[in-house]
Amino acid sequence: MIVHENLKIANMTRSASGTIDRPGRNVAAKSGLNRSVLDAGWGVLLQVLAHKAESAGRELIAVDPRNTSRTCARCGHCAKENRVTQAEFACTACGHTAHADVNAATNIIRAGLALRRAAEAA
Ligand SMILES: [Zn+2]
Repeated sequence: MIVHENLKIANMTRSASGTIDRPGRNVAAKSGLNRSVLDAGWGVLLQVLAHKAESAGRELIAVDPRNTSRTCARCGHCAKENRVTQAEFACTACGHTAHADVNAATNIIRAGLALRRAAEAA
């Protein structure tokens, strides 16, 4: 089973609000993110992954990306303050620390397993 966040590529690449003359907030950061998302070819990656998963007889599950990076994988506490830096996760409720990507990946696989259980029960 492979689980990924159901990221909306159109939303991720939408330009930050503002104009050249009156830039919105985080225009530079947003354009950098846009470039990296487009460079990575996220949609193409997911298409290839879907074909590979199918030919290997594996499930590919997309989960809601909301709060996967700010929820503690140990206790479930959800707060933006849990995210110390881009790379660092430190739960303000239970003290759990992990690399932010590892913490989020734990939440993502858990959400995928829950969706699969729900589908089996239906
Ligand atoms: Zn916690």
